[in-house]
This record gives sequence, structure tokens and C-alpha cells, in this order.
Amino acid sequence: MKNNGRQPQVLVAGGAGFLGSHLCERLIDEGAHVVCLDNLQTGKRENLRRLQRSEHFEFVKADIVEALPPRITKRKFDRIYNLACAASPPLYQADPEHTMLTSVLGTHRLLRLAEASGARFLISSTSEVYGDPAMHPQAETYWGNVNCTGPRACYDEGKRAAEALTFDYDRLGRAEVRVARIFNTYGPRLAADDGRVVSNVVHQALTGEDITIFGDGSQTRSFCYVDDQVDGLYRLMEYEGPQPGPINIGNPNERTICELVDLVLTLTGSASEVVYQPLPVDDPKRRRPDISKAEKVLDWRPATSLEQGLRSTIAWFEANLGRTARVREAEAEVRLSA
Ligand code: UDP
Repeated sequence: MKNNGRQPQVLVAGGAGFLGSHLCERLIDEGAHVVCLDNLQTGKRENLRRLQRSEHFEFVKADIVEALPPRITKRKFDRIYNLACAASPPLYQADPEHTMLTSVLGTHRLLRLAEASGARFLISSTSEVYGDPAMHPQAETYWGNVNCTGPRACYDEGKRAAEALTFDYDRLGRAEVRVARIFNTYGPRLAADDGRVVSNVVHQALTGEDITIFGDGSQTRSFCYVDDQVDGLYRLMEYEGPQPGPINIGNPNERTICELVDLVLTLTGSASEVVYQPLPVDDPKRRRPDISKAEKVLDWRPATSLEQGLRSTIAWFEANLGRTARVREAEAEVRLSA
């Protein structure tokens, strides 16, 4: 990250989340001073444990739907990443109004801050802008197939509006912007109760609970390991050429949900049973990124196989389950001795 000899000042909205916390770590490794802004709705303080040991890291608890605190607006940033939004279907549908406003109002506030700061701005958009896609694989040129009145619309249409606003700032010369369309990403620090398929299945396999497959499991997703995703986001932000337009960041290795479950069962050696539950409304049938633009423009492609990525995710969940269990035991002892 070049900044005329000064330490780059970077704001990461949503920096306490799964993806955000990994990005903050990468940015500090790259020599930045990072200010993490998060309302802790789905982000967690424990994701910041390693970061808070660094003198180059600050945490500010605030919600980008509300006016940004003076501690943020009085500062000058070189880069602003907007990763703030609940991203798992059950969590973003739990408060759909807040989800929509996070993308629309929150992005607006951060764009205005980028304009005032002269900062470059990156929005984490999503493969959900393609909806249930009629084009396969999905290239950035595809305009998508989103149900604008369904339960996923708060997320999908919020992100589409955020993209529109972001490109208007670019067209009007108000801020230099980057738009990443993130495809399903997994890895350590996905919360066990997040509700996404990888965290659900890994947690269920390790605890011996039934594995929940929604529908018949023939629907596909393409899973990207978090370190690869963070590398793609960083490269896009630091790309110095003319406005590249939206860029898909994801792993084109497409799997059915049944294949994912089989792999997790094999890697964990779990004896969990598989149970089938109804497919959620508007659940996309197929999803796979065309990443030729990322390869060409950013010289980026994922380096981690699904098996490698799942192994480290499983190891993290195992270590974490142990810790959770020890905390529960300690609490039980305190209750018994009280
Ligand atoms: N899914 C599943 N079991 C689960 C959670 C999700 O079969 O416990 C399915 C879900 O219906 C979807 C896919 O896995 O088809 C990916 O779901 P996820 O919520 O991870 O992300 P999405 O890509 O749908 O936003």
C-alpha cells in the first residue's frame, strides 16, 4: 500500500465480522493503521483478540445506519472498506429493514466520508446481485435475476442499490471506488450459529448433531477460502488502473450441497445423520463465479482447495468447541460451588 511515506489510515466498516477481522489482520501486516467500525450485530469482540494486541488497531463501536461518530468523521482516511452487513440468510432476514438500510444509508455515509477524506472506497457487494441466475457461470456483465419482493430482497436489493450509489460517486468524480462481488466464503471464525451451510455442517458434524440439507442438496455453490477472498479484496482496492467496474471474487470450483456434506463427513469422520429440510424461498439453484476478469485485471485466482480450506476450518471449529466447552464447565462449577 503506497502512501507517500505516511502510514496508510484505513477504515474497515464491519471489521469485527468473519471476513472483516481477517481483512484487518492483512491490512496491519501490510503496514496500515486500521480503524475498525462495527455495531457487533453479527461481528464479535473475540474476532478482534489478535488485532487488539496491535498498536496499529483501533475499535469503534457504531452502527453505519446512524450518523457516524465524530471520532470517525474528524479523521482522514486513505482507504475505506465497507464490509458491514449481516450476510447469512437467517441473520439478514431477522431484521430486513436494518439490512436494507445498512447497505443503502450505511454505504451513503461511508461514501460521503470517502469524498471528504479523498479516500478510495471499496464496497463488498455479493453474488446475490445475480439472484437465482439464468446465466451460468455468472460474469460481471450479467444483470441478474433477483426477486425484488421476496425475503432475500432486503440483502440483494440493498447491495444492488449500494453498487448503484457507489458507481454514481465514481461517475461524478466524488470518490475513487471499487466494487467486489463476493461469492460464498468460508473459513475460521465463521460463527457456529451463523446459519450458513459450511458453519452449520461443520458444527453439526463435530457435535454429532443431524446434518441439515435444505431441499434435495442438488443446488450448487462455489466456496472460496477466506484468505483467498481477503487477498482478492486487497488487490482490488490497491488496483491502480482506471475504474475496472464490478469484479467477482470467488472460487469457481462448483459443488452440490450434497458433495460438500460428503466431504465434511469424510474429513471429520463424523457419524452424524443427514436430514432433509424444506428449501428456503428463492434459494438460488446454481452459483459459480466467472473469474476471468479478476484473473486478467488483478492477476488474482484462489489458491486454496476446498479440502485444504475445510481442514483448517474444521481444525478451528474443533479448537473453538473445546474452548466453549471449557467455559461452560467452568461456569457450571461456579454455579455448583455457589
Ligand atoms: N443450506 C443447507 N443447509 C444448511 C444451510 C444452508 O442445505 O444448514 C443450503 C442453502 O439452502 C443454500 C446453500 O446451502 O442452498 C448455501 O446456503 P448459505 O446460507 O450458506 O448461503 P447462500 O449462498 O444461500 O446465501
